Amino acid sequence: MPRWLLPERLEILWPALEEPDTTVYAGGTDVLVKLRAGSKSPRQLICLERIPELQGIEDRVDGVLIKAGTTHARIAADPLIQARFPILVQALNVLGSPPIRNMGTIGGNICSASPAGDSLPPLYVLEAEVELCSRTAARRLPIRDFIQGPGQTALGPGEILIGVWISKNQRFSRQYYEKVGQRKALAIAIVSLAALLDLDSEGLVADIRLAWGSVGPTVVTAPAVEAGLRGRPLTLAALQKAAAEARRAVAPIDDVRATAEYRREVAGNLLHRLSLLAENGRRP
Ligand SMILES: Cc1cc2nc3c(=O)[nH]c(=O)nc-3n(C[C@H](O)[C@H](O)[C@H](O)COP(=O)(O)OP(=O)(O)OC[C@H]3O[C@@H](n4cnc5c(N)ncnc54)[C@H](O)[C@@H]3O)c2cc1C
Repeated sequence: MPRWLLPERLEILWPALEEPDTTVYAGGTDVLVKLRAGSKSPRQLICLERIPELQGIEDRVDGVLIKAGTTHARIAADPLIQARFPILVQALNVLGSPPIRNMGTIGGNICSASPAGDSLPPLYVLEAEVELCSRTAARRLPIRDFIQGPGQTALGPGEILIGVWISKNQRFSRQYYEKVGQRKALAIAIVSLAALLDLDSEGLVADIRLAWGSVGPTVVTAPAVEAGLRGRPLTLAALQKAAAEARRAVAPIDDVRATAEYRREVAGNLLHRLSLLAENGRRP
């Protein structure tokens, strides 16, 4: 049996983190599943759930800080997040099921660094930054530098994720997240797409950001696809060209959920949703 700790303050956490073979967890929806399956058996487990510095959402001058231990359900129900970052709400509302959303946290989703993690494509297009902290230092880095591969992050020894920062200067009036899975609920993404879109007064693409999940070792971005759409109307021809480019940019694999070929096809097809998004001004 591992030693189990439930610290109520960061000062109590820091020395405990220095113990060898320690695993931290928040909601436990990833870690406790691995413990039960026997694929993880640390000597010490630290639950972060009761640390107040890791809870809540703060509206600060330089951005919105979502603390790592905040659950998906709480974030999705937050009026500030709903008003400013509906793309994140759309993604968290299709993550797992109500019990998973009530237990699972944004910090756990980010640190799991799964290619299928639902919060990640929205956080990439929102150009979010993570705040990391250890006993002696704090640092901030873009989420795209923090996620280094499947299950791999830039977390250093003795460091934890404090939260994720999102700038309030987002000029994108249209925000969209869609996950294609094997069923409507409790589905891990086969392909997902996050898109932020801004149109000018003539209906041309003023700016666009795109990020795909589950089609590479980490979230895939495709600056060439975005550049090809800027300054143009979202016609069928423009979207077909962008879809072909997107299929070249992604690097999916075959797994139990889908073939690489299917994923590549869907990654391109999802771009056709953008014309509806442009027309409706909201999620198609
Ligand atoms: C039935 C089921 C369905 C699921 N469906 C989905 C889904 O549709 N989409 C999806 O994206 N995920 C899904 N998941 C995965 C999981 O629920 C999410 O990734 C969730 O967000 C993890 O959060 P957590 O707090 O439970 O993580 P935990 O299990 O507590 O931790 C996960 C990882 O993050 C680390 N960690 C947690 N907090 C911190 C911190 N503050 N600092 C440093 N490291 C930290 C832990 O050490 C561990 O490595 C599902 C899981 C289950 C069991």
